[in-house]
Amino acid sequence: MTDPDPRRRIPGTDTLLALPQLAKAQDVLGRDVVKASIATAQQRARAGEISPDDVVDAALDALPATASQCRPVFNATGVLVHTNLGRAPLSTAALDAVQAASGTTDVEFDLATGSRARRGRGALAALAAAVPDAEAVHVVNNNAAALLLCALALAPSKEIVISRGELIEIGDGFRIPDLLASTGARLREVGTTNRTTARDYADAIGPDTGFVLKIHPSNYLVTGFTATPSVRELTGLGVPLVVDIGSGLLTPHPALPDEPDAASVLRDGADVVTASGDKLLGGPQAGLLLGNDALVARLRRHPSARALRVDKLTLAALEATLRGPEPPVTRALNADPATLTARAERLAARLREHDVDAHAVTSEAMVGGGGAPGVTLPSAAVSLPESYAAALRAGDPPVVGRVERGRCLLDLRTIDAETDDRLLEAVRRCG
Ligand SMILES: *Cc1c(COP(=O)(O)O)cnc(C)c1O
Repeated sequence: MTDPDPRRRIPGTDTLLALPQLAKAQDVLGRDVVKASIATAQQRARAGEISPDDVVDAALDALPATASQCRPVFNATGVLVHTNLGRAPLSTAALDAVQAASGTTDVEFDLATGSRARRGRGALAALAAAVPDAEAVHVVNNNAAALLLCALALAPSKEIVISRGELIEIGDGFRIPDLLASTGARLREVGTTNRTTARDYADAIGPDTGFVLKIHPSNYLVTGFTATPSVRELTGLGVPLVVDIGSGLLTPHPALPDEPDAASVLRDGADVVTASGDKLLGGPQAGLLLGNDALVARLRRHPSARALRVDKLTLAALEATLRGPEPPVTRALNADPATLTARAERLAARLREHDVDAHAVTSEAMVGGGGAPGVTLPSAAVSLPESYAAALRAGDPPVVGRVERGRCLLDLRTIDAETDDRLLEAVRRCG
């Protein structure tokens, strides 16, 4: 006699958890994660989508690769530093360093003497070596934290002189002026939205001035009738000059002539430079502070510095980014357009063999919210029917492309050439 209700044969949770494969998965992923996959599989069987006999396999299939919900994603948007996709992808060297540092490690310990050592000395030395113009360096959680620390340590109950053209919102509703004012420092706004002169700054300086802050507009352009003094023009005002360069370029890059870099800005006379570690530097999320010895010492010793400090994983990744081979962001920035075109043509041809409506097109990549607004980088993309955009995002691994004029473009400047074949497979599975 056939079973009147096959759903009765769906194995129970405890039975499933005790099976060797699923028990092993709990050692790696934890009980809750495995239970969630089991519940998904049981639900599918109850809905009649799968047979009760397939529940074990379905539960195993539903297991995530890691115990975190963060999934690796192919960034085929052509946006090099994509905020929503986690900004800079780490280099293999940085990943290896993170892995090595993730257990107990000598981040703050001198193995030779057996006593305490300066925390993160390797990363700090690497940063100092990368920018010899900096007398001293310090690293905090992100660039926002670097600015916060400057305000707390250099302008307590004092004024920060800043141009009206540089009162910027960095994203997700966060505004630098609000961040600075939250410390109790007062903003002394000078100039206008489009034009500010060195004279405007000089006139605002007085006994209440903590420092002058110059912020690089990293996510917008002011064009037309505009004026803004150079860093050099703002030196010699008798108060510290802090310059937020944003993107974290340490030295000039030929493809980004208007993007400020730490070395040049320090040489031009800035006392402190702040920058992000996970934009054009291509490293982990971090806030870099570089500059004058006495000022950096004040920042480092301020009580709030402890609340803003970075963890050992960040220090390891930052050091390896600075000392190791070019990180992915730099490789993407330096990619040769002809090579990108050849890759796009090869991928499109392979996809056409599988009856996918694919062809190679030229494309324009960009740095993104992380810097160089208005700069486009010549690139190449695989053009697919628009319906691929959603299907690729739902795939495993997910691929995020860009929809332009009714086509889904996969820009190859932000895809490592070594992963072209995996990208190809991901597209084929959507066909
Ligand atoms: C991105 C950016 C920030 C914020 O940096 P985080 O590292 O995201 O905190 C601040 N200032 C400028 C000019 C930026 O471009």
